[in-house]
Order: sequence, then C-alpha cells, then structure tokens
Amino acid sequence: MAKGKKRIAIIACKNIKGVSCVGGCLKCFKGISERAGEYERWKDYDVEVIGMDDCGGCPGVIMPKLFLMMDMGKLYDRDFDAVHLGTCIMKATQTAKCPIEVEKLKNMIETKMGKEVILGTHAY
Ligand code: SF4
Repeated sequence: MAKGKKRIAIIACKNIKGVSCVGGCLKCFKGISERAGEYERWKDYDVEVIGMDDCGGCPGVIMPKLFLMMDMGKLYDRDFDAVHLGTCIMKATQTAKCPIEVEKLKNMIETKMGKEVILGTHAY
C-alpha cells in the first residue's frame, strides 16, 4: 500500500528538450512508471505529475517559472511537493556550457519555496 501521494513538477533543459522531448517525454514517463532513475525514491508513493516545463532557455529562468507554476497550482489545487531538475539539465551542466549552478538553484528553491528538489529524472 502506498505511503501517500507525491505531486511532482519536472523542469527540462529547453535546448535539449526542444518543443517536445523525443518521444513526447517518453523517457520521463517510463522512468516514473517503473520508478527508475531518480524516480526510484517514489517507489512507495503514488505519483502525480502536476506540470512539465523547461528552463526558459539560456541562461535559465527556472525560479520565476516555478513561482508561476506554484501560483497556478494553488489556484487550481495542483500545487507540487517536489521538483525534479531533468537529467537533460544535469547533462547540459556537465557536458555543455549550461550556466545554471544546480546546487545553488536547489538550495534557492528549497529555501524560498519550501519544495524538495531532486537533481535528475530518468536514467536513460
Ligand atoms: S540554461 Fe542550461 S538547461 Fe537551460 S537551455 Fe541553456 S543549457 Fe539548457
């Protein structure tokens, strides 16, 4: 029996994701379905994806976009508990010249929004 429900938001790298991630974000939905990769932490929970968005493009405007998502979520009773920064963002910071400082961003989201932040999504 599930321990409860987790509502999650997913943020992707705009450059890598494009208009729609390859396969319609299939990798994320597979990872969620199988509780694989960074989604494994939710193996004892029901998971509801309340929104997927991108960083807004370089140099990244994740904080304002997340605040908007949170405001909309409250308006429609769809607020989220946790934010996954996509594997695409992690790859962009590690292998390209993505200017996002993920640890700093994680800290900012946790401090200013009170949301749990997970660095990564699927492992594919
Ligand atoms: S800021 Fe980083 S995550 Fe956003 S589009 Fe640029 S490279 Fe991708």
